[in-house]
Amino acid sequence: QLLLEVKDLEVVYNQGTSSEIKAVDRVSFNVYEGETFGLVGESGSGKSTIGRAIVHLLQPTKGEIFYRGESHLKRLSDKERKTFNKEVQMIFQDPYSSLNPRMKVQDIIGEGIDIHGLAPNKKMRNERVNELLDKVGLNQDHASRYPHEFSGGQRQRIGIARALAVEPRLIVADEPISALDVSIQAQVINLLEKLQVEQQLTYLFIAHDLSMVRYFSDRIAMLHNGQIVEMANSDDLYDTP
Ligand code: ADP
Ligand code: ADP
Repeated sequence: QLLLEVKDLEVVYNQGTSSEIKAVDRVSFNVYEGETFGLVGESGSGKSTIGRAIVHLLQPTKGEIFYRGESHLKRLSDKERKTFNKEVQMIFQDPYSSLNPRMKVQDIIGEGIDIHGLAPNKKMRNERVNELLDKVGLNQDHASRYPHEFSGGQRQRIGIARALAVEPRLIVADEPISALDVSIQAQVINLLEKLQVEQQLTYLFIAHDLSMVRYFSDRIAMLHNGQIVEMANSDDLYDTP
C-alpha cells in the first residue's frame, strides 16, 4: 500500500539571486506502508530539504508530494491539516534543540496528546505519558524532569516518545542517531525497530552513513548533488563487493 509518493521534486533556495542553489533536483520515490525507506547521501546532498518538504516545513519549487493519495498542493481544511500533522511526525538529529528547555518531559510528550484530544483527562494523559516513557526505555521518575537533565541518547528517546504520543503512521527521521555515541546508536536503532513492529510505523530514514541505514532499511535511495543516483533493495546492496 502506497503511503507517500514524491514526484519530480525540485527545491531551489535563493531563487533568482547570485546564491541560487538547486538543493533537490527531480527526485522521485515511493514509500510503502510498513517499510523503512533509507535516504542516504553526503552532507549537503539535499536529504534534509526533502524531509522538510515532506512534512510541509518548506514549499517545493516544482514537483508534487502525495501522502495517502492527497497532493500537498491541495488546500487542506483545518481538520485535514491537523490529521496530517498527527500522522506524519519528524524526529531530528539533535532532539535537544527541538525540546523546549522550560517544559517538563511529561508536558513535552503530553502536548500532542492534548492537542489531538487523545486522552479524556489529565490523569489518563499522564498515564499515557508513563506508558510512552516505558516504551522508549525511560521511567516514570523522568516525567517531572527537564531536558537538560538527560544524556543525548535519553533525549532522543524523549523525542521519539513525543512523536509516538500522537499515534503517527509515518516517521521522518532526519539523522536521528548521528549526534550520538556509537554505543548508543545501536540502542536507538533497536528501539526504532521494536517500535516499528509494535506501532506499525513507516519510516523515512535519513542518514549520511550507509552502513547503519542499509542494515535498518528495506529500500535505499542514494542522493548526490540533489539527485537520486541509485535506488535499490538493501539486500541487493549487501551483495555488492
Ligand atoms: P543534507 O541534509 O543532505 O545535508 P540539505 O538539504 O541540508 O542537505 O542541503 C542541501 C543544499 O541546500 C546544501 O547545499 C545546503 O547548503 C543548501 N541549503 C539547505 N538549506 C538551505 C537554506 N535554508 N537556504 C539556502 N540554502 C540551503
Ligand atoms: P542538515 O544537513 O541536517 O540540513 P545543516 O547544518 O546543513 O543541517 O543545516 C541546518 C540549518 O541551516 C537548516 O535549517 C538549513 O535549512 C540551514 N542551512 C543549511 N545550509 C544553508 C545555506 N547555505 N544557507 C542558509 N541556510 C542554510
